[in-house]
Amino acid sequence: MSEILVLVEHVEGQVKKVTLELLTLARKLGTPSAVWAGAGYSPEAKARLTEHGAEKIYVADSAEIADHLVAPKAELLAQLVAEKSPAAVLVAATAEAKEVAGRLAIKTDSGVLTDAVGIQDGLVAEQSIFGGGVNVRSRVTKGTPIIAVRPNSTPVEAAAGAGTEEQVSVTLSDAARSARIVERVKEEKGARPELTEAAIVVSGGRGVGSPEKFAVIEELADTLGAAVGASRAVTDAGWYPHEFQVGQTGKTVSPQLYLAAGISGAIQHRAGMQTAKTIVAIDKRDDAPIFDFVDFGVVGDLHTVVPQLIDEIKKR
Ligand code: FAD
Repeated sequence: MSEILVLVEHVEGQVKKVTLELLTLARKLGTPSAVWAGAGYSPEAKARLTEHGAEKIYVADSAEIADHLVAPKAELLAQLVAEKSPAAVLVAATAEAKEVAGRLAIKTDSGVLTDAVGIQDGLVAEQSIFGGGVNVRSRVTKGTPIIAVRPNSTPVEAAAGAGTEEQVSVTLSDAARSARIVERVKEEKGARPELTEAAIVVSGGRGVGSPEKFAVIEELADTLGAAVGASRAVTDAGWYPHEFQVGQTGKTVSPQLYLAAGISGAIQHRAGMQTAKTIVAIDKRDDAPIFDFVDFGVVGDLHTVVPQLIDEIKKR
């Protein structure tokens, strides 16, 4: 079977869930090989990759790669593409990995497809475009297909791989060294899960009313062990940080449960959450567009409904 390279996403040595999704997808297309670029590789990371089907793990465990933004990752992948001639390279459709994909495409004279929500036989990628309104099927016709897949678009399935390690060294070009990370500032995220990886997301919209009142959304999220999201009306107004925006110009989430409170359900918001398994909305208007595509809807003032919901969940 043809080799499929999967660029591992990792933070502080922890393999992110999207990588497991990519490995699951890669197993259906060929033989998955994980590519670890940057510091922090560990036996735990190896186990996680192997348990999700990585037959090989190319390890470039180098602080230099970690310190020099995205260019070294593109150089490492380009080197592997030249040496191994894989059938495809899969990366996560995150801001950083999409930049890696673009640079890799230039270096290898290949085509790149972004925002894939699935890949079928023949490496035909299903891409979600126009804010999720249209799906198109596309195939790379030049070079090594490079496909950026949206987080949460593939369910993770465990499967044992051989996990054979191969150490890879990469000689960085001067260009790759031209920009360096000088400081990493850790975001204060508290105990909440990362938005794009969370199993439950509780989002608030303009209907919440004010930045102070957003505390009720946070409390519900914490009661459920969920991540907090927000509509653009909220982030534009400065009620909540932009990094929590869900939608076409925000993040795409695909949790098991998406709970929207005071969000009308504009197409641009829907684009970022419509693939959630179960959608619940609370809105005081019974004709709010969000009720057209929810699984469960509650018509009422969120400041009445949400505290009751919190009390009820806490009793259980
Ligand atoms: P509103 O549409 O004002 O809805 C508020 C809802 O709260 C209403 O349904 C109201 O009935 C309800 N409500 C009010 N008070 C209460 C209460 N006390 N209890 C219960 N319900 C209450 N939007 C995004 O979210 N994400 C994006 O990424 C995004 N990208 C965009 C990109 C472009 C190019 C454009 C043009 C727009 C984009 N938007 C995006 C904006 C989008 O079109 C909407 O304007 C936005 O989603 C509206 O946010 P909202 O639902 O919070 O506010």
